[in-house]
This record gives sequence, structure tokens and C-alpha cells, in this order.
Amino acid sequence: MEKTKVQKGQLIVVSGPSGAGKGTVLAKAFEKYPNLRYSVSVTTRAPREKEADGVDYYFKNIDEYMKMLHDNEFLEHQCVYGNYYGTPRRKVEEMLDGGYDVVLEIDVKGALEIKSRFPEAVMIFITPDTKSTIEERLKKRSTEKEEELMVRIGSALEELKQAEKYDYVVVNEDADRSADDIGAIIRAEKCSTAKNKVFLNKLIYGGN
Ligand code: 5GP
Repeated sequence: MEKTKVQKGQLIVVSGPSGAGKGTVLAKAFEKYPNLRYSVSVTTRAPREKEADGVDYYFKNIDEYMKMLHDNEFLEHQCVYGNYYGTPRRKVEEMLDGGYDVVLEIDVKGALEIKSRFPEAVMIFITPDTKSTIEERLKKRSTEKEEELMVRIGSALEELKQAEKYDYVVVNEDADRSADDIGAIIRAEKCSTAKNKVFLNKLIYGGN
């Protein structure tokens, strides 16, 4: 039987500046909503302390990455802060086909590419409640060298301007509440008329 969009699982794109607390919010959302799955990206960036291969990212060298790109293994890919990042196509498709709601945590350019190719994707932008929170969080994390840190703070503030291109904004004052906001957005999307067209057609014109 042909699967409807609703049965297929929702594609969710989450972006937001570094220091917005995306990681904490998403971790809470995964705890709360068992139907959510995280798409682990492939990157050429070096692992940070505590990051594990296959959990946070698939860490690849540039040759391995370029081979994957050449073999069309990415749904989208971008160069961010001088490193490559790509979304593995097959894994995302498998999870969606399995009925899971899949979160892509990707940069703004990648997000817009996904939206243009998959208009049914829901786009969520996570912001901090104040600008200074960004600086504080990034400095506290302090995994980058000072110079790189300044670049990230500058880009993070610049990135806030992109929020209006997204369908929803989640202001992260409290990670638990923000995770609930994400859950609510997904539920609302699943009730949208656009995502229930196949169901409605069957209901109206189909048999019993
Ligand atoms: P970080 O190095 O801090 O983990 O990530 C840097 C940026 O790359 C973040 O904005 C993150 O959302 C983005 N990013 C991570 N994975 C992907 C991906 O697969 N595609 C794209 N376009 N951006 C990604």
C-alpha cells in the first residue's frame, strides 16, 4: 500500500546560532519524544573532546568525504567554518520510511536547500533569549581556539538575521520548555491539511 505523508514521518530541520543551546534542547526532545530520530551528519571537522564517531558525527577525512559526495550519498552538504558537513541520504530516507520523525541539525544554507527540495520539511530556528547568552555559552564551551571563537561569535550574531526564513522560532529560555515547543510544532504539522491530503481524499472518495 502506498504510504501517506503522515505515515511516512516528518522531516524536521533545526538551525540556530552556535551558543543557542540547540544541543541541550534537542537532547531533551529526544528523551521526551521516542518517535524522534537524529540524523548523524558526516564531517571533515576534527572531533571535539567527548564527541564519538557515529554518535555526534561520522568523522571522515577529506578523501573519504569527497568520495561520498561523488557517489551522491548526501541529501545536502555545505562547507561551514572551513570544514565540510553532509547529511547522509540513505539513513534519513530509511528512518522516514520507517515512520520516524527525523531531525536534521544543519546550517542555514543547508536548511534552505532542504526546504527547496522537500517543501514538506518543517523548519525550526532556535535562538537564545539574549545576545549575551550566545557569547557566554560559546566561551564556556571554549573548545575552539580564541581566534576561531571570535569568528563563531560574529557568525552567530549574523545568523540571527536568518530566523525569518524559517517556519517557526523557538526561543530557548528553558531547554525543557523548548523541547516541548518542538514536540508541539511536530504535532501541529501532522494535523496540517497539506499533510492530510491523501487521507482526506481516501475518506471522501474511497470506500469504507
Ligand atoms: P559544529 O562544528 O559546531 O558541530 O557545527 C557547525 C555548523 O555546522 C552548525 O551550524 C551545524 O548545524 C552545521 N552542520 C552540522 N551538520 C551539518 C550537515 O550535515 N549539513 C549542514 N549543511 N550543516 C551541518
